[in-house]
Amino acid sequence: MITCGRAKRRKTKTINVGQVAIGSTAPIVIQSMTKVATVDVTRCVKQISKIIRAGCRLVRIAVPTRADTAAFAKIVQKVSVPLIADIHFSAARAVEAIEAGAAKIRLNPGNIKDRESIHRIIDAAKMHKTAVRIGVNEASIRDLKAGDVPPRKRTALMLKEMKSYVRLFENRNFTQLVLSAKSSDCLRTIEINRLIAETFDYPIHIGLTHAGLPEDARIPSAIALGTLLTEGIGDTIRVSAAGDPVEEAKIAKQILIALGLYERQAPELIVCPTCARAEIDVIKLARRVKKALAGIDKPLRIAVMGCIVNGPGEAADADLAVCAAKNKAYLYKNGRKTAIVPESKIIPVLLKELQNL
Ligand code: SF4
Repeated sequence: MITCGRAKRRKTKTINVGQVAIGSTAPIVIQSMTKVATVDVTRCVKQISKIIRAGCRLVRIAVPTRADTAAFAKIVQKVSVPLIADIHFSAARAVEAIEAGAAKIRLNPGNIKDRESIHRIIDAAKMHKTAVRIGVNEASIRDLKAGDVPPRKRTALMLKEMKSYVRLFENRNFTQLVLSAKSSDCLRTIEINRLIAETFDYPIHIGLTHAGLPEDARIPSAIALGTLLTEGIGDTIRVSAAGDPVEEAKIAKQILIALGLYERQAPELIVCPTCARAEIDVIKLARRVKKALAGIDKPLRIAVMGCIVNGPGEAADADLAVCAAKNKAYLYKNGRKTAIVPESKIIPVLLKELQNL
């Protein structure tokens, strides 16, 4: 283990994916996938720009057909982040994507198995300095499709699949590898990634696959990824959600921020949960403050508290805090009480103060 700021990280090889380093002390990289047709180059580039703005430093693109790898070559020229080609079933697509400029390709051991194809891919990846992610997926392992396999056996089979695939690459002297093993089950995701971390020193891409709609994916993803990250496991992360990739990036960013693994560039809003003691409409005020904070790109800490029970405590840590009392509110700046504002003026005063921070 090594210490990076407040966090513990597992010591791994460092793998370069284009200009982005993955592993060990390199910052944990958020990534997502495009969700428009790859052949629609304009839409794809537009979506990649949004994904980058949301905090991703790597973007993965599916290239199921020859037309997609041709489009991939054009997209590579138009974007500022390294691109990963997502490959299933076809060694030809893998080689085309590498030649088209993929900084990394993702291979699924469950569907590209023959040695000759793998050697062809390795030789192309070596020639073009392309990294490879070996992405084991529980749902793709043949022995696991046959029904009732107990959880321990499942993770053991996933690890076995990973070991034999890694060996194929290492035997051909290829070590530019990132590993991942995904399941839609939270606990199995945690267990298989622990096993991989114990077994290999390659960086690990972590994610909970098929996690559902964004509102359903948020908590299981936070539990699985958060648990692993607190153990120092995970060098690049993707939250898989059936929705806008920008949402995926936002959730991933929230997980990393909560663990102190991502430098916040936007304000943090602390809001008390409200209770019968609240002297103002806390939720309404918090919503307005959140709206006012939307365009601010400073790591400010703002607190909105419904009464003075916990208010002054939170205010001590906040750049700006409002603690409501009967018909008025106390305004705190950097822990110091600076004003008493009548209830009707709380919002305008707070919004004005925000502009001056
Ligand atoms: S700060 Fe006051 S109003 Fe808010 S939850 Fe705590 S006690 Fe209730």
